[in-house]
Amino acid sequence: MHTTALVLFSGGQDSTTCLADALEKYERVETIGFDYGQRHRVELEARDTILSQLREHFPRWAPRLGEDHLLSVDVLGQVSASSLTQDIAFEMQANGLPNTFVPGRNLLFLTLAGALAYRRGLEVLVTGVCETDFSGYPDCRNDTLQTLAKAISLGMDAPFTIETPLMRIDKAGTWAMAQRLGGTPLVDLIVEHTHSCYTPERTTRWAWGYGCGGCPACGLRQRGWEKWQTGKT
Ligand code: ZN
Repeated sequence: MHTTALVLFSGGQDSTTCLADALEKYERVETIGFDYGQRHRVELEARDTILSQLREHFPRWAPRLGEDHLLSVDVLGQVSASSLTQDIAFEMQANGLPNTFVPGRNLLFLTLAGALAYRRGLEVLVTGVCETDFSGYPDCRNDTLQTLAKAISLGMDAPFTIETPLMRIDKAGTWAMAQRLGGTPLVDLIVEHTHSCYTPERTTRWAWGYGCGGCPACGLRQRGWEKWQTGKT
């Protein structure tokens, strides 16, 4: 029975929901984020706000929420030409993947998380990746992650588990999960403070939160919100 977890926490809707899920399940939860020169740095700033909001307004979870770790992985910008790290427009590539794809990003992040978890004595790595996501990133697939968990466990000689609470659910399901875990206060926190948009745009407040309203991430978040709202009535 695991009691400790390290959550890959980016400041977006998905990882915030995963963090709430981990706080519900585990006695000690730490968070890790990665700074790789992404265009949406506001997501990193959102992290601090979300963590302090959780500490302030969720007394049941606050004592379980431990240290936050922010790792600099500038090297990712050197090995990839993705629209997330460079000033190029979003588009689909010939291989069917959007050019927001940074090859192997999750492999790198989870391996670094494993190294940190080893040092911190944390047993479970939690990530908000999702197979039903439109993007179809190959490093978000369940097979990839479970194979990676095995490689990390063998390579560090420590039994790590990779948990993916959102793997099989869509964005409407993610909103429903937040409601189930933390009720309206958690849904409100996610709407107000998380950032999923591919751009740093935070001037327009939509029903589902802040964002440009036009990028694939905003579209996904909006459609999920609408589907969830419709399903509730
Ligand atoms: Zn957007």
